[in-house]
Amino acid sequence: MKYDHILIRYGELTLKTKNRMMFVSKLKSRMERALNSTSAVVHANRDRAYIDLNNEDEALVMNKIKHISGILSMSPVVKIEKSVEAMKEFAVKFAKGFDKGSTFKIEVKRADKNFIFKTHDIQQLLGTEVLMNEDHLIVDVRKPDYKLMVEVRFDAIYMYSEVLMGVGGLPLGTGGKALLMLSGGIDSPVAGFEIMKRGVEIEAIHFHSPPYTSEMALDKVKKLIDIMSEKSGEHIKLHVIPFTDLQTTIHDFIPDNLSMTTTRRIMLTLAEKLATEIGAEAIVNGENLGQVASQTLTSMFAINEVTSMPVLRPLLTLEKNEIIKKAVEFETYETSILPYEDCCTIFKPKAPKTRPNLEKVKQFESKMDITEKLELALKNHTIYTDDEKNTSEFIDLL
Ligand code: ATP
Ligand code: MG
Repeated sequence: MKYDHILIRYGELTLKTKNRMMFVSKLKSRMERALNSTSAVVHANRDRAYIDLNNEDEALVMNKIKHISGILSMSPVVKIEKSVEAMKEFAVKFAKGFDKGSTFKIEVKRADKNFIFKTHDIQQLLGTEVLMNEDHLIVDVRKPDYKLMVEVRFDAIYMYSEVLMGVGGLPLGTGGKALLMLSGGIDSPVAGFEIMKRGVEIEAIHFHSPPYTSEMALDKVKKLIDIMSEKSGEHIKLHVIPFTDLQTTIHDFIPDNLSMTTTRRIMLTLAEKLATEIGAEAIVNGENLGQVASQTLTSMFAINEVTSMPVLRPLLTLEKNEIIKKAVEFETYETSILPYEDCCTIFKPKAPKTRPNLEKVKQFESKMDITEKLELALKNHTIYTDDEKNTSEFIDLL
């Protein structure tokens, strides 16, 4: 079947009444950005959007937008004139793609109540036409193998037989901004996608400790940003914070079994400072209750104490296999499991405390003076976006 449009159904934004058009226009611009390398054109109205394929391949276009939040589902459609002949012609074309001996059903939605043919008439006419042309097919209205959908709208008739699910949620940019703590692991990129699904725009922060952590580990984090940027249609900023000096200071002053707690406290302190600087209202991380020593309730209590900013943990109660499944769906899994550790062995405590005592931690921390080091780390941080990558790839081509 040669499709000419993609029909986009909206997710939760249909619940909005007053500011619905603001949500719609955000979603439209996200789709336009994701499709800017194609000639497809997005038309969005209050209830749904249509993408005019302009001869682009429908699978390619759907692939580019399938991770955009705010899209509930999509269908490749043909847009035809409002005549019985056109409907019949296309019903037969669709039926040619149905497997031999399979069952089908014609389903009609009539938004244009003035259309001369009623729902039942259209079902009868098209069902008969299909059976006359493809006599191996069987009608089954209860559990058909194929549904041929006919939508009679005011401007035209749309026909399709496939519905592909999107991620749902709300369009990015409608829920404020948060700062994602991005390591190279499996969890934090998934946390980023989950928060973006709620319409929250993100920038990311990564703590890098060269030479203890390699350039390859940093490249892996950049690759994760590239994937997240491509999928969301946004050039997500990655702030890379030089962390070596602070990490060696922790190593020198804090006993091994509490060093993880202090490391996380310092990371969170810096994250809060940066979040404030970039106008973010929350910090997001990939923590999961009970997963490792730094993620028990007692640890979280001790770590969280450094900030009053909301720390969002979208993966808090998920099972690891659910997180992995999501990472596979978001296509970050393969990159996350590359073997470059983000936390080198010399800084990894042998037996981190699962119930760190906050008062003790604070006592040890009072012995190190890191005010200046914190300032320097922020001052000397670098920013990466996938824009930069595209530019350098372009320069390589010249
Ligand atoms: P992940 O798979 O996201 O690395 P994890 O289960 O390995 O998570 P930890 O390594 O304990 O857990 O990290 C907990 C959270 O702290 C991460 O999900 C991430 O949000 C943040 N984090 C850890 N290391 C870094 C880092 N180097 N830079 C930025 N954030 C980090
Ligand atoms: Mg990790």
